[in-house]
Amino acid sequence: MSVDPVLARIDSTLADSLERLKELLRIPSISTDPAFKAECDRAADWLVADLQSMGVTAEKRPTPGHPMVVGHIDGPGPHLLFYGHYDVQPVDPLDLWDNDPFDPQLEDTPKGKVLRGRGTADDKGQLMTFVEACRAWIAEHGSLPCKITFFFEGEEESGSPSLVPFLKENADELKADIALICDTGLFDSRVPAITTMLRGMLQEEITIIGPTRDLHSGMYGGAAMNPIRALSWIIAALHDENGRVTVPGFYDGVADIPDDLMQQWEALGFDHKAFLGDVGLSELSGEAGRSALEMLWSRPTCEVNGIGGGYQGEGFKTVLPSKASAKISFRLVGQQDPHAIRENLRTMVTDLTPKDCKVSFKAHGASPASVMSIDNPAFEKARVALSDEWPDEAAFIGSGGSIPVAGYFQSLLGTESMLIGFGKDDDQIHSPNEKYDIESFHKGARSWARILDALTKE
Ligand SMILES: [Zn+2]
Repeated sequence: MSVDPVLARIDSTLADSLERLKELLRIPSISTDPAFKAECDRAADWLVADLQSMGVTAEKRPTPGHPMVVGHIDGPGPHLLFYGHYDVQPVDPLDLWDNDPFDPQLEDTPKGKVLRGRGTADDKGQLMTFVEACRAWIAEHGSLPCKITFFFEGEEESGSPSLVPFLKENADELKADIALICDTGLFDSRVPAITTMLRGMLQEEITIIGPTRDLHSGMYGGAAMNPIRALSWIIAALHDENGRVTVPGFYDGVADIPDDLMQQWEALGFDHKAFLGDVGLSELSGEAGRSALEMLWSRPTCEVNGIGGGYQGEGFKTVLPSKASAKISFRLVGQQDPHAIRENLRTMVTDLTPKDCKVSFKAHGASPASVMSIDNPAFEKARVALSDEWPDEAAFIGSGGSIPVAGYFQSLLGTESMLIGFGKDDDQIHSPNEKYDIESFHKGARSWARILDALTKE
C-alpha cells in the first residue's frame, strides 16, 4: 500500500474535508456549561456517524458526564490508539468575536487562509486531520495499514472527570502499541514537533495566621508580628540567588537531558529575547546557566500565583492583618514526586514560620511529569515522516504545560504517547477569534498519512 495516492487524495478532497469540519464546528459542544449537554451529545453522535461512514465500528459510550466516542478498525500493522477531544471552551466575551464562533468562516489573512471559529484548533480541526487521513487511506486502498482505535473525549475542557474511571474500566480494549494524541502544536511554522516531555504540577496554598484580629499599626505596629512580613520571608526563601528552588530534596529525580536531545534543542535556534520581548521583558529568570528551552521544558519551577492579606481596596488603611496567604505552584519534571515535595515544602514553611504565628496548608492539585521513552522506534519513524512533509526537520520537544491524558495512557494502559499537533502560537485557543490555518489542517492530514505509512514499515 503506497502513501502517494493517499496524499494525492487528501489534496484533491480538501474542500470536502473542510465542509465536514465546518459541520462539526457548528455544534456548540461546550462541555463545562450544563446548558450545552445535548450539544455535546450531538457532537459525539456526529463523530460516530462519520467514523461509521468510513467503515469503522464506532459507538457512543456513556459516562456520568459527556459521552466518549470509541471506534475500532482492523489492519495488519501495529495497533494505534488515537486521541482527540470534541468538546470546546465557552465563547464569552462574545462581543470580541468578529464572527459567530459557531458559524466558522474561511478567511484570508496576511499569513494565509484560516478557518475561524470555536474549536477550529482546539481540538476539532486537529482531531479531523487524523480522521481525514484515515478516510483518504481507506478510500484509496480499501483498508488501513494499521489497526486503529479512535478515542474521542468530550470533557477535556472541563477537567476530564470521567477519563480515569473510563480508562480503568476499558483498559483491555484501549491499550495499544502506541498512542497518538493530537492536541499540541508545531514548534514553528516550518518545524513540526513531537512532544515527548510534559511537566507535572503541584499546587499548595499557605496561610500564615498572626494576631487573632486585624490590628491598628499605630497601636500595635513594631511590637506585634505582621503575618505578611512572615509570609514574605518564606516566599523569598523558596529560591536561592542562582534561581534554584530551595525546598529540601526538590531536585531528586531531575536529570539533565541527553546530549543528542540538547543538540536538537540548540539547533532550533529559539530566540528567548523575542519570546520575552513579546511580553515586555528581556532577561531569563530561571536557574543560572540554563537555556530558555531547558527552563521551559526540562527544569522544574516554583511560582507564586497569588498573594493576599491586609487592605487592598482604594485608598489606604494602616492595618496589621490577622492573616496572609499565598498560592504557590510547582511545575515538575522527570521523576519528581509531587507528594514528597508537598511534605518537604510544608516542613520547610513550618520551620520558617515565626514562633508567634501559625501556619495552615491547603492541598490543591498534584500530578507527576510524563516523559515518553523515545527509544521506542515509533518515535524516530514518526519524526522522519513528519520531516518529509514540512520544510524543516521535525524535533522532539518538551512542553511547559500539562496534558494529563498522556500520563494516564502511560500509567493506566501501559501505552506511550506521541503528541503530534499542528497548532500555532497565534491560534488564540480558549480566546475570542480562535482560528486554525488551512495549511495546518491540510499538511496535518498529509502528515498522519505519512506517519501511518512509516509506522507500518520495519
Ligand atoms: Zn485541547
